[in-house]
Amino acid sequence: MVDLPPIRDVIQRHGLSASKALGQNFLLDEQLLARIAALPGDLAGEKVLEVGPGPGGLTRALLRAGAKVTAIEMDRRCLPALAELGEAFPGQLTVIEGDALRLDHGALMEGEPFHVLSNLPYNVGTALFVKWLGGEAWPPQWRSLTLMFQREVADRIVASAGADAYGRLAVLGQWRSEARLAMKVHRSAFTPPPKVMSAIVHVTPAAMPEGVSARMLERLTEAAFGQRRKMLRQSLKSVPGALEALAALGIDETRRAETVSVAEFVSVARALGPV
Ligand code: SAM
Repeated sequence: MVDLPPIRDVIQRHGLSASKALGQNFLLDEQLLARIAALPGDLAGEKVLEVGPGPGGLTRALLRAGAKVTAIEMDRRCLPALAELGEAFPGQLTVIEGDALRLDHGALMEGEPFHVLSNLPYNVGTALFVKWLGGEAWPPQWRSLTLMFQREVADRIVASAGADAYGRLAVLGQWRSEARLAMKVHRSAFTPPPKVMSAIVHVTPAAMPEGVSARMLERLTEAAFGQRRKMLRQSLKSVPGALEALAALGIDETRRAETVSVAEFVSVARALGPV
């Protein structure tokens, strides 16, 4: 195994004090990092996109697992530490300096399949999740997403109808993919510790239901959960044809969005056709 100094030493040597503005909470425990890197399965020879490598704790676990890593980091201060890591694993690491929200990930990965792993900054995590799971094109170029979220957001992604946490993120995460809560991570695992608990969500693409427009489903869930305490007959009034579709499908219009299952939203979107 390639011998590397502890991440704590790397952080100190490169003066990488955690920046609040950049959402920096670092993971230093190499055993935990190895367990996270193992969540997608065997990564030997696989392409991996890592967002926000910071000083490179998760990156080194991925490199040790044999992955070919492309890492996007917007904090220039981290680049020398990442360059050192690249030298220790020749040909395995490409570092891109930039904002992951503005980059075309598919093009960066040269059109090839890839896995995404990331201890995401909380503020950009949800935006990236929506970007990766949205759009009409399916299956996506990514083969799996292994993403750290604050616990409350992770709960919202894996929630079932009827749960308090159930909403747009659950429908987005589940209508054509499998999302599971893969690991809970205590706040004390981070340096500095964030205020809230975290959890890792693992997502793999599933078959896209036929005849359903992603945009229509989005429009429906936006309207339905925009007024989640209202009955569907009120909240879906703004979507032409939605109330007729509910009636045709036998979905009671006096129900509220939070009781409508992912499969039921999908059947309403199918009945409505493309936007
Ligand atoms: N992966 C490291 C770890 O687990 O210790 C660092 C995690 S830290 C929570 C998040 C990292 O994402 C920081 O290094 C931060 O600079 C970087 N970052 C924040 N916003 C970003 C963005 N929009 N694009 C790329 N990197 C970003």
